Amino acid sequence: MAKDSNNFDYLVVGLAEFFRQNHNYPYPDLLQHACNKLALKMTATPYPRTLEGLFSLLGKPLLTWYPLEIPKEFDPDFGLIYDRALSEEASQYLYEQLLERAQLPEFASTIVKQIALENFQFQRLLERLQEVNDEDAKRSQQEYVLLRRFLIENKFTTHEQLSKVFSKTRYISTEEVGELYEDCKPHEPYWCCDYCGALVEKYGKLRGIKPSICNDHRKQLPHVHRISWQPGLRQIERGIHWRVSLPGIPEICLFQKLEKLHQEYPEYLCDVQLWPGIDRYDLKLHFGDESVWGVDIKDYRNPYDLAPKLTQIYSEGNLRHDKSFYVIPNHHLRRREDYIKILREESLHLPESTSLLSDVAFEERVVAQIIQLSQGK
Ligand SMILES: [Zn+2]
Repeated sequence: MAKDSNNFDYLVVGLAEFFRQNHNYPYPDLLQHACNKLALKMTATPYPRTLEGLFSLLGKPLLTWYPLEIPKEFDPDFGLIYDRALSEEASQYLYEQLLERAQLPEFASTIVKQIALENFQFQRLLERLQEVNDEDAKRSQQEYVLLRRFLIENKFTTHEQLSKVFSKTRYISTEEVGELYEDCKPHEPYWCCDYCGALVEKYGKLRGIKPSICNDHRKQLPHVHRISWQPGLRQIERGIHWRVSLPGIPEICLFQKLEKLHQEYPEYLCDVQLWPGIDRYDLKLHFGDESVWGVDIKDYRNPYDLAPKLTQIYSEGNLRHDKSFYVIPNHHLRRREDYIKILREESLHLPESTSLLSDVAFEERVVAQIIQLSQGK
């Protein structure tokens, strides 16, 4: 007998399949199964008689009606559906949480297999670069940064661009990077946001996949672009977008700000490295007094999701650091004032010496360090 929390997983996966097959019959088995169980357990609210009614219910905050167990990684203030598509919260749960359980036999669902496969293709490249890192550290590191930045900065690409960028790489082939993208449909209009990627037009408005962080997509804005279809146009696979591109955006933003400080004050902030040791952590800062800071950026809306993932930041060999920081994009802290407090209390495997703070506060710490060093001279 399936546990109640499995029923929630079936519901999310079943809905994702249903939307991917463009709302056609038959309903995916998992959706059918999950709804049957729901119908049995619903007593306070009557189970809807029509599909329209069911969709309206699934769009409401789960807290207000869902009769079974809700996994703690899902914020019950949200619904599963928004605007006849999977809600942002449900998509995030699908791409970031469910994948870890994708090997389980009950998830022999096409959509979960596909997400797992996309992720596997990226992992395979990552592992290959890590393997050659000992003998060819410089080259493998360069190629890793090239690949990861490309996936963050190019939500759309063409075969031509791929061959140009990856023509001289030693450990990654153009074809392998191409597998992380899918073909676009010919002559369809495409829109892209610099921050959150491909946009979908609904009721004359453009919408991204993460409205909680990026929700202004008027067509005249500088970060909103129309992508003209051309032969060979490809867009990033959704799983790669969720797991690699989106979390990479705050990493690149902070890196660019620190790079600017490095250029202005190179004798105090001597070097900023992105993803050192092939992503052992996100940023390594060298200061003029030879101290080194190690930084990991974590883009999680819910501190309870993040807390179990926080451990001591890697600090061996030439990746050693004197101070370590977990940095959270500020918009999460604005939404939830006790974010850092919860994170500190819930992260049981994290040493006290590792600081937890927002990206804004971290930048201020770096500036304060630069000022202190400049006054010490
Ligand atoms: Zn956007």
